[in-house]
Order: sequence, then structure tokens, then C-alpha cells
Amino acid sequence: MRLEAVATGDSADRGVGSARESADRKAGPAEELYGPDGTADGTADGTADGGVDPPDLKGLLEQELQELAIELGEPAYRGRQLYSWIHERGVDEFSAMTDLPARFRSQLTSGFRVSKLRQTERRESAEGTAVKFLFELPGIGHVEAVLISDGDRRTACLSSQVGCPLDCQFCATGKMGFRRNLTAAQIVDQFLELGRYASERQERVTNVVMMGMGEPLLNYDNLVQALRIMRVEKGPYIGGRRITVSTAGYVPGIRRLADDDLNVGLAISLNATTDELRSQLMPINRKYPIAELLAAAADYFRRRGRRVTYEYVLMAGVTDSDEDARRLADLTRDGVCKINLIPYNELTPAPGSGSPEEYFRRPSDERVDKFREIVALRSPHTVTLRLSRGRDIDAACGQLYRELRR
Ligand code: SAH
Repeated sequence: MRLEAVATGDSADRGVGSARESADRKAGPAEELYGPDGTADGTADGTADGGVDPPDLKGLLEQELQELAIELGEPAYRGRQLYSWIHERGVDEFSAMTDLPARFRSQLTSGFRVSKLRQTERRESAEGTAVKFLFELPGIGHVEAVLISDGDRRTACLSSQVGCPLDCQFCATGKMGFRRNLTAAQIVDQFLELGRYASERQERVTNVVMMGMGEPLLNYDNLVQALRIMRVEKGPYIGGRRITVSTAGYVPGIRRLADDDLNVGLAISLNATTDELRSQLMPINRKYPIAELLAAAADYFRRRGRRVTYEYVLMAGVTDSDEDARRLADLTRDGVCKINLIPYNELTPAPGSGSPEEYFRRPSDERVDKFREIVALRSPHTVTLRLSRGRDIDAACGQLYRELRR
């Protein structure tokens, strides 16, 4: 952590610019791709009114909290205590951190905060295999996270952005447009909330997939900071081997992730086998076509030693032909990867909207089986089919949000 003060706003007089800097990472390369109009309203992470929030300690690593304690004239172990309160005990009020000296607590209260997402709704699927959490960022919008149970596995599916700039035609989040990058603290906080729910049931979150709302690689700095926190196997956290980042195919982000030392898993939402169709369904393909995407994925495996997963959403009459199945197997033949087929989760269309999502349908079970069979016979790789979990609670990208909006 760098120790120079950052002379912006009121941070300079607190003399803890480094913590502020770490805690306030925000606008990312979405700007570079989509221009300033495609991005957030330019305010700091938490306020809709343009005010600047104090640095958020929930977005700092244990090491950074120790450095902060030293900067504030305390011994390093005060930082460890802070870490334990925030991440292990889930306490967000400095006043409740009773083993910290009063002077330190008041320093923290006047210069810092520990943010907490406001949970506005929680829905459990009828079969009990998925629980969906909806969080509100006042004045900005909602994000959701889903806890999925599968045998001993408890997978937290987390969001990285409020909305998304990528405009994939079949995706509910895409329909919202882009509102805001989540801060590292807000990504971590989704994990903590799901973890709390699990621990009330004597369970733990065992895996993380960044497959909720948003394109994680377009919020790179905040994503990576959140991953650095969650990949330390400590307290509620789970280690990098059980974390997967899913991308629609932002190639510069994949390259950057390969340069970083995080060693998290990578999933690529391929979803089509020709550039023509993929560019229609996922406009990002116009900038980073399939060949470039596959090359970046192969490079990720070479550099990080983690097998890439190709996600392929099956949409009736659009991506589910025999020919698609053969092309999918052929495209992904080289290299070391897995293929995960996802039957489309139909969106509840806004009544009378005539909007394109009404046209996307889930194929029949027979078609899904046939597709899987063709790919599995032709491909040297493992082919899995994502079982539908929480279909009744709309546990896919942005769907609960849509439902509430109507
Ligand atoms: N932007 C990232 C992560 C969010 S989307 C990405 O594109 O990977 C997570 C996954 O859900 C992607 O594979 C996407 O193709 C898929 N998806 C989106 N809407 C869906 C729907 N209605 N039914 C099934 N899968 C969907």
C-alpha cells in the first residue's frame, strides 16, 4: 500500500490517502469501450447526490487494515482486530468494536465507514436449491446475488455492476443499461450476506462465481480487490481455487487477468459458434470476435494453469441446432477446457413490450439432451449441463429486478 496522501476532497487533511485510494476504486474501462455516456454519473461509490463518501474499510485486505492502523498511530494488530470485526464477525459499526481503544474508534468514526448493502428482498426457490437476494443501492438501483445448493456445494453467484453496458440481447441485465460499478466492498458484502444466511443454517459458502449482474472485467480494479479479499482462506472466505470469473468476452480484461497473480477460474460466455450470430446476440463480439476470444482463453490456461470453462446458453431455434453442437465441439477442440451447457432461462417479458427477449425460448428437454450428446461425442472435453435451479424465483441475471419494476 502506498503511503502518500491523495489531495482530493477532504482526504488530505486526514493523511490517509492510501486507504482512501484503495477503498475508492471506481469507474473502469467501460468508459474506454462505451464512452463517458455509458458510465455512471461520476459520483463516488455510495451517494446518489454527488457527495463523497469516506473510505470504506470493508474493501480493504487485512494487510491494508494493518497499514491503516499504523498510519493512524496504532499498532498493526489493531488492523487485524478490525479485519476480524468486519469480515469474521460481520460488525459494521465502529462503536460496537469493543476491544478497540476509544480514541482509535473515534478516529475511525470521523474518517471512515464500513458500508453495508441494504437487503430489500430474499426469495427461496420451492425446491430449496436456490436463494436469491436483492440489494438496493439507494438512488442508483438494485443488484442481486444467488446462493445455489448442489450436494455439499454452496455457490455464491455475485454481481459486479448495477446493470451492464454490454447489451447482450437475451440477458435481462443488458436491458437495464449500465448504472454503476460496484465497489470492492459491495462485491465482498454480497458474499458476507450470503455467508451469514448459510451460517444460520450451519452451512458455509464453498464457491464463488461472478455470474450475477454486470460484466466483471469491465469493473476490473474493484473486482480484483474483492477477489484478493475472498481468495484468502480465512474467516468466511474460500481461496482462489474455488472462485470463477465469468466474462462475455472482454479480451483486454482476460489478458489483464492472465497477467495478475490471482489464479482464479475463468468462464467465457460463448453462446454462439459463428461471428455473425454472436455479434448479433452479444455486440461485444464485433470488437473481440470468436478467434481472438479463444486465443485469449488459451493464453489464460497457459499462463495460469486453470482450465477455462465455456458457457453456452441453449436458445430454441437460435443456438441449439445439430450444426451448432458440432461447431461448438470443433471450436473448443484445442486446449484444455470444459463446456457447460445452460438451457435458457426464459425472461418474463414486460407485457406488450414486443421487446426481443420475448423471442428467446428454452429448447425442449429432448433437444437439450440431443445437443449435449452431439457435443459430448465429438468433443474431447468434459461437457456438463447446468441443471435449472431456482427457475421459480427467476434466479438468472436481473430477472427479479425486472419483476419488481413492473
Ligand atoms: N457478464 C458476464 C457475467 C454475467 S452473465 C458474462 O457474460 O459471463 C452470466 C451467465 O448467464 C452468462 O453465461 C450468460 O450468457 C448467462 N445468461 C444470461 N441471461 C441468461 C438467461 N436468461 N438464461 C440463461 N443464461 C443466461
